[in-house]
Amino acid sequence: MALLPRIPDREIVAARSARSSLDPTKPYAHFVEREYSRAGQIEDVAAVFLTNKECPFRCVFCDLWQKTLTDRIGDGLVAGQVEWALANLPETPHVKLYNAGSFFDPEAIPSADLPRIAELLAGKRSVIVECHPRFVDDRCISFAKAISPVKLEVAIGLETVDPQVLPRIKPSMSLEDFKSAARLLTDNGIALRAFILLGPPGHCGPERIDWAKRSIDYAFSLGVECCVVIPVRPGNGIVDALEKRGLYERTNLTELQSVVEYGIRAGHGRVFADLWDVERIAGCPDCSSARSAALEQTNSTQRPSAPIDCSCTRVIEPKRAAERPLP
Ligand code: SF4
Ligand SMILES: [Zn+2]
Repeated sequence: MALLPRIPDREIVAARSARSSLDPTKPYAHFVEREYSRAGQIEDVAAVFLTNKECPFRCVFCDLWQKTLTDRIGDGLVAGQVEWALANLPETPHVKLYNAGSFFDPEAIPSADLPRIAELLAGKRSVIVECHPRFVDDRCISFAKAISPVKLEVAIGLETVDPQVLPRIKPSMSLEDFKSAARLLTDNGIALRAFILLGPPGHCGPERIDWAKRSIDYAFSLGVECCVVIPVRPGNGIVDALEKRGLYERTNLTELQSVVEYGIRAGHGRVFADLWDVERIAGCPDCSSARSAALEQTNSTQRPSAPIDCSCTRVIEPKRAAERPLP
């Protein structure tokens, strides 16, 4: 695959379709999901997807802008969304407050809302938020102190450690930025989760598996406790355009399984497959549903699944074996 060019923000924005129409007084989604916790048990997590202003960055692979607003929302509205969601969901030990951007970006989550959100989290065991390294600062440390003894976990998009691809798909962050944010968080007793991309634009075939595995290794070496592997899907406009230009290739569930199981076998922490909208990358019609079910099982047990026998993998494996040099 040719080297991915630098894509200007205006081209990324021009390729977009319309964004969703959202109510700023309500989260755009809320539900309870089950997750294998750091304590080694399956536990309930209230997942609340906050409605707020779009992230200021323009990562090439990002589709989160679809569920955001163009303007900053008034003080108190985000705290109101958290209150409404928690009142409308069953009691859970853990809460995820994802805002399609950075929780500590004051344009997204007004500073005035943080004390009330901290009060609403009283009695929980942990809260997970997402944040770009540029917004991992004193506000984050103060929030962790304000919610204590509730444990704060911050999820950051590491995306890929490929030095050719990272600056082209996420020019707002370097590996050094990720490392500094990781240090600040771990030094302050804040847990760290990393999002790892499988198959971003610029990666094809076996190299996308290799870079995803290397990215997991790098994340764990910096004290990350949990990695979430996200297969890059088309649908945000620019990724679809890059696919037509031969600069993006869809990954599949077999590759996702291989990467997640590699991470789990390494034994440094939890590794989850992001299975949201996974039909867009499914691949083989004969084994997709079995692989998808196996990945769900692996997510909830943190154990690799039994091998799935299918002609799609039978074709690949003998070919690779034959390429190996003879001893
Ligand atoms: S930092 Fe996150 S939310 Fe912002 S554009 Fe990049 S991927 Fe999307
Ligand atoms: Zn198959």
